[in-house]
Amino acid sequence: MLESLGNALKKTTDKIANAVLLDKKLVDSIIKDLQRALLEADVNVALVIQLTDKIKKAALDTRVSGIEKKEHIIKLLHDELIKILGTKKDLVLGKKDKIMLVGLYGAGKTTTISKIASYYKKRGHNVCAIGLDVHRPAAPEQLKQACDKVDVPAFIDEKEKNPALIWKKYQDKLKPYDLILIDTAGRDALSDDLIKEIRYIHTLIKPSETLLVMPADIGQSAKAQAKAFKESAKITGVIITRMDSTAKAGGALTACSEAKVPVVFMGTGEKPSDLETFDPESFLSRLLGMGDLKTLMEKIHSSMDQKTLEKQQSRISEGKLTMKDLIDQIETMGSMGGIGKITSMIPGLGKATEKLGEEKLEEQEQKIKQYRNIYDSMTQEEKLDPQILEKQTSRIQRIAKGSGTTTAQVRALLKQYKMLSEMIKSQSDMTSGKIDQKTLMKLAKKFGKKMKF
Ligand code: GDP
Ligand code: MG
Repeated sequence: MLESLGNALKKTTDKIANAVLLDKKLVDSIIKDLQRALLEADVNVALVIQLTDKIKKAALDTRVSGIEKKEHIIKLLHDELIKILGTKKDLVLGKKDKIMLVGLYGAGKTTTISKIASYYKKRGHNVCAIGLDVHRPAAPEQLKQACDKVDVPAFIDEKEKNPALIWKKYQDKLKPYDLILIDTAGRDALSDDLIKEIRYIHTLIKPSETLLVMPADIGQSAKAQAKAFKESAKITGVIITRMDSTAKAGGALTACSEAKVPVVFMGTGEKPSDLETFDPESFLSRLLGMGDLKTLMEKIHSSMDQKTLEKQQSRISEGKLTMKDLIDQIETMGSMGGIGKITSMIPGLGKATEKLGEEKLEEQEQKIKQYRNIYDSMTQEEKLDPQILEKQTSRIQRIAKGSGTTTAQVRALLKQYKMLSEMIKSQSDMTSGKIDQKTLMKLAKKFGKKMKF
């Protein structure tokens, strides 16, 4: 679901967080990537330009700089994306609710009825469905079958052609249920005929919610459709189906926001459980593959101060790495949860390693502290040339004792330093033509597996 947009947004935030200098060239390239990604996801051009103009202006504003500026840009990007995704609407259900689904042919109404039925059944509601699609002969049976799958009763009448009579016929049977889901007929397009029918059923039933069902692949034309149904059929929200089957779902989502109708649910597959409530905030977090704005901000703070970073990068590009560089890196990586930072500084190796899960963070923090203690217990000579420690067990014992760790831990740090130095050396060799990309990737893989904090 919108994976490529998610990846592009992740890349954008990474670029901003890791930037040593947010100069015009970098800003331009970030803006260009962002525009491309949003347009590919089918977001309206005007919205895209509006959003990226704001980001660009903030990025090139010389009044703020450094971390403060990065923070400002990321927050702005986050807030602007939330804004174009619209507002959240929770369906608040009482003792007796009727949710009516309307929409064109094939939008996913009937399928979604069974999904919503299952969703609320799991949450303790007494749910049933009633089929008022009197136009397509197979419609009642389809609803019945879909509801059977989730063990929810569906009241249908395959012969009756007047929806009002079906509704009246089942009044007694509907009484015990606290949530009634109403399936209605569609048309090929929004016609007067359909509007008349929906209005007729609406007046008769007085649903608590009337939700328009639209498939994600209709893209930006969702705006016109949502507007038309809002004016003529008093819809109170939208359900976007088939989120799983298009990369262009950004169009439908943002179009609903523009039409000022909230998206309530998203259909993400054909199974009854493929239904999600829509919340712009958590939707964006998921796209970005991280918790929330706070996590994003931490990412920026975890980048080192610029001078250290510049010095280190120039050393690394020469193929050198000091023990201090490693310790600095390990510490800055602490809040990011992985070795990714080091490898992301080396072209082509960004994806060589994986981030650690949340649950490991604490354990990791502990280890980071130990590494710092080990480093602090080393003499200047040892810090400059950790190699000398390899053969000298007594030195290792002294360091372990001084840092309150074990000799195994000291050796582990030395091993990681050695591996990383070798990696960086090979990277530099590659740049100077001494090693090829394939060998480097092999090394990176090995490195990614072994290098665990
Ligand atoms: P209706 O005419 O509005 O009642 O639409 P249907 O419920 O009959 O759905 C039309 C088609 O869309 C069916 O083949 C469904 O299986 C499919 N469909 C509905 N929702 C989703 C979804 O979220 N993802 C996918 N992949 N297919 C869906
Ligand atoms: Mg149907």
